[in-house]
Amino acid sequence: MTNYAAVPPEVAELSAALSQPRPIRRGTVNERRMKCGQANCACQRDPKARHGPYYMLTQAAGGKTRSRYVAAAQVPVLRRQIEAGRDFRQQVEAYWDACEHWADAELAAAQTAEGAEKKGSRRASEKRSGKNWRRS
Ligand SMILES: [Zn+2]
Repeated sequence: MTNYAAVPPEVAELSAALSQPRPIRRGTVNERRMKCGQANCACQRDPKARHGPYYMLTQAAGGKTRSRYVAAAQVPVLRRQIEAGRDFRQQVEAYWDACEHWADAELAAAQTAEGAEKKGSRRASEKRSGKNWRRS
């Protein structure tokens, strides 16, 4: 009965956007400046003399947060991947919203069809028995 061929334009558009594969990543890239182990080094007293910057990629995986150092040259790539991941998440949310709109329309159509077929007593009795069953 349901005509899935009649995909709403919004859903079709979002679906097409989702099916464009690209490298995406969760997490964040942070810059760090560190003290070294040498007692006479300026970094021990002056925060501006700390070494670095060093870059860390931090990601949550299976309830744990993991960090690792990455090369400075990798940072622009990582930032692009993380940004693309954020876009992807928004697209997924938009896709969900559009599909639920579509689902609402389908549901409303089903109600109209039922109302036309079984108008009257059966609906009322179903409602009553359902209530009783839940309370007892
Ligand atoms: Zn130092």
